[in-house]
Amino acid sequence: KSTAYRNFPMVPRVVFGRNSFSQLGEILLAKRKSMDAPFIFLVDDFFEGNGLTHRIPLMFNDELIFISADEEPKTEQVDALVQRIKQNYEELPSGIIGIGGGTLLDLAKAVSILLNNKGQAKDYQGWDLVHKPSIYHVGIPTISGTGAEVSRTTVLLGPEKKLGINSDFTPFDQVLLDPDLTVTVPKEQWFYTGMDCFIHCIESLNGTYLNAFSQSYGEKALELCEEVFLGDLSEEESRDKLMMASWHGGMSIAYSQVGIAHAMSYGLGYLLGIKHGIGNCLVFQHLGEFYPEGVTLFKRMMEKHGIQMPKGICANLAQSDFDTMVGVSLGMEALWENALGKDWRKIMTPERLQEIYRRI
Ligand code: NAD
Ligand code: ZN
Repeated sequence: KSTAYRNFPMVPRVVFGRNSFSQLGEILLAKRKSMDAPFIFLVDDFFEGNGLTHRIPLMFNDELIFISADEEPKTEQVDALVQRIKQNYEELPSGIIGIGGGTLLDLAKAVSILLNNKGQAKDYQGWDLVHKPSIYHVGIPTISGTGAEVSRTTVLLGPEKKLGINSDFTPFDQVLLDPDLTVTVPKEQWFYTGMDCFIHCIESLNGTYLNAFSQSYGEKALELCEEVFLGDLSEEESRDKLMMASWHGGMSIAYSQVGIAHAMSYGLGYLLGIKHGIGNCLVFQHLGEFYPEGVTLFKRMMEKHGIQMPKGICANLAQSDFDTMVGVSLGMEALWENALGKDWRKIMTPERLQEIYRRI
């Protein structure tokens, strides 16, 4: 039937280039609704008091809100921000600008949706539950890998589940890619978030949902990841290329799906609060039987960069903890079907999945 193919929104405007951040003021000027409708900047608190803060083009009653990325975004946090913004201003903002990693980008997307849709953030976790457009929102990544800058989702931890708000109104209206903003990223974090992109490629390219659209982006992203993590680029080139790898990796999964590492990482995140990037890596090292080439490459990358991952994360968990993680993970049906095909339940039983978790 003609409705079988998904009609996908994409980010309509994007700027790329070193120091392109200095163009932000000009870009926003054209989008300001009135003097009373502020731009709200949600900024990773790593940048508090840092040089970047002084470069944010504040005017009139614009507001800068620093937010910690120590924990992944929560639905309540989104609701609190929306309430605060509605209380403080008579008009809806001209726009929301998220500056930071996946955490801040996802918060900016969610706040822009909830400012224009009734109820609470948790009501919209799922697929296509948002019916009114979000307000204008801009994404400015300061670390590369998640693909949150291009994706159609914003992943939130809610009272009952960790799930995205997947909707046509979620993608940014504008993205600004300035690789210079990633200069200060610490090495381990660079690796873990970068590996999120690498794993997106492996899971997409080895999935049963693969198609020429996803493959074209996935292959390019994988090639860029190999250059960045195994080649000998200059630091500047490496930052440029990882930023574009993240973009292509995100585009690749848009029209397919992620796979086993993501399904398992969600379980770790839900039960133990382990963050997405490192969670994926903790899992991925044990997935050699499913992604042999990917895991071999991954281990070479870890070795080249001297990355030591924590061990024994699941060593002292109770059976009820494993049940929770296994339940959350197996609930991600599309991810398993993409990875293992229609009969995935026969291949990945709860017992087998628990055994993999035990090794982490
Ligand atoms: P993050 O936003 O959680 O940040 C990780 C750490 O890096 C934080 O300590 C942060 O302060 C720091 N940091 C960021 N930029 C920095 C810089 N320039 N200099 C120094 N430190 C910097 O990291 P992330 O891995 O980008 O994002 C993870 C989040 O993204 C998770 O919440 C995950 O659910 C989400 N995610 C979303 C999507 C999506 O499509 N929406 C996809 C994948 C992941
Ligand atoms: Zn991911």
